[in-house]
Amino acid sequence: TANTKQREVIIVGAGVIGLSIAHVLTSDPSASYKITVVARDLPDQHMDSQAWASPWAGANWSPIGDREDRRYKWEAETFKRLWDMIPTGLTMALPTKAFYGDEVSPESIWYQDIPRDFHFLPKDDLPPNMKTGVAFTTVSLAPQAYLPWLQSELKSKGVNFICKKIDSLEDALVFGGSGCILINATGLGARSLLGVEDLEMFPIRGQTILVHAPNLRESLEIASDLHPQTSTGDATYIIPRPGNTVLLGGTFQQGNWDVSLSMSTAGRILSQSCALAPVLKSPDTRILAHNVGLRPARRGGARVEVEWVEFPLKGELNIRREAEVKAEIRKVMVIHAYGFGPAGYQCSWGVAEEVQQMLRAGMGAKS
Ligand code: FAD
Repeated sequence: TANTKQREVIIVGAGVIGLSIAHVLTSDPSASYKITVVARDLPDQHMDSQAWASPWAGANWSPIGDREDRRYKWEAETFKRLWDMIPTGLTMALPTKAFYGDEVSPESIWYQDIPRDFHFLPKDDLPPNMKTGVAFTTVSLAPQAYLPWLQSELKSKGVNFICKKIDSLEDALVFGGSGCILINATGLGARSLLGVEDLEMFPIRGQTILVHAPNLRESLEIASDLHPQTSTGDATYIIPRPGNTVLLGGTFQQGNWDVSLSMSTAGRILSQSCALAPVLKSPDTRILAHNVGLRPARRGGARVEVEWVEFPLKGELNIRREAEVKAEIRKVMVIHAYGFGPAGYQCSWGVAEEVQQMLRAGMGAKS
């Protein structure tokens, strides 16, 4: 029947966004997709590469910046899904305290109904120099387990993975037939991918320290450090994840592309983390790694939208590769899903569901 006809989907990017989209599509009971993921960096090969963001995340749900309606919906949906995964051990419930350097009015805390058990902390319980504090229970995960799990689930459902860097959207078409649909989940790569060339993309540099700290099972953070307007570039946050590891952060340096390690920053992160959570000074704590990752941020917010792109692409840099690209002019549905900055994990499932709806609507428009 028409419903069971397979649609060919090429997803460029195997970060948490590309993989979550693939997962939602493979679980769609009403449609059947033949999915190929094309990416320069893959969970089974490149977990040490700084060319993508996903290996370097905390990763938890935590409040970032001001309320944006679209992101709120993605985050609320993702929270529910990550919470439901707790019995699998891939995610865990995480008691959290978030502090602000200013007096914050209760009404301006927009995220109260996303995590569980939200409440305000008494002033006496706040660290020095903090004026407002809230507590809630959120979820966290370890990318080192979560991303390979996602990829292996997809492989078992027949998703094909191709390790390749492409220069142009056109290069991705080589992996599909004439009716294929493209999904662009390239993160910071969207800045220089021909046919996208999104100059609104910029990095937010995040330096962190991964520690083994079995005694620390509570997350602590200075929430005002993770606000694009009030951030000074330094940030303090502590994220326990499944497996007894804890991520100590960090930095929130907007526009900084430097993936090298700053030892003075590492020293500052360690001393501020120990001040916030003295239990870290226990002899059981061991440093496992110093890391730097670039969050793929976008001025104006993430881009999740459909664009019908005409191929061959025009423009002097888009010299068509005769051998690879079919010569006829055609329009292809491209769904963009990139630019989630510091919130890719906490938006992932909500975004994937929205992409699935766009795909269904777009296929309807065509047929
Ligand atoms: P990426 O993970 O960057 O993946 C992009 C993919 O596209 C890769 O596979 C890459 O190889 C591929 N690609 C790009 N260009 C090309 C090309 N030309 N050809 C082929 N393939 C290409 N988020 C949270 O939600 N919670 C957190 O606690 C959190 N903490 C963070 C802490 C730090 C220190 C950092 C650095 C980030 C943190 N983030 C957090 C943000 C999160 O990591 C990102 O938002 C998320 O990983 C973005 O995923 P993505 O799939 O869009 O991009």
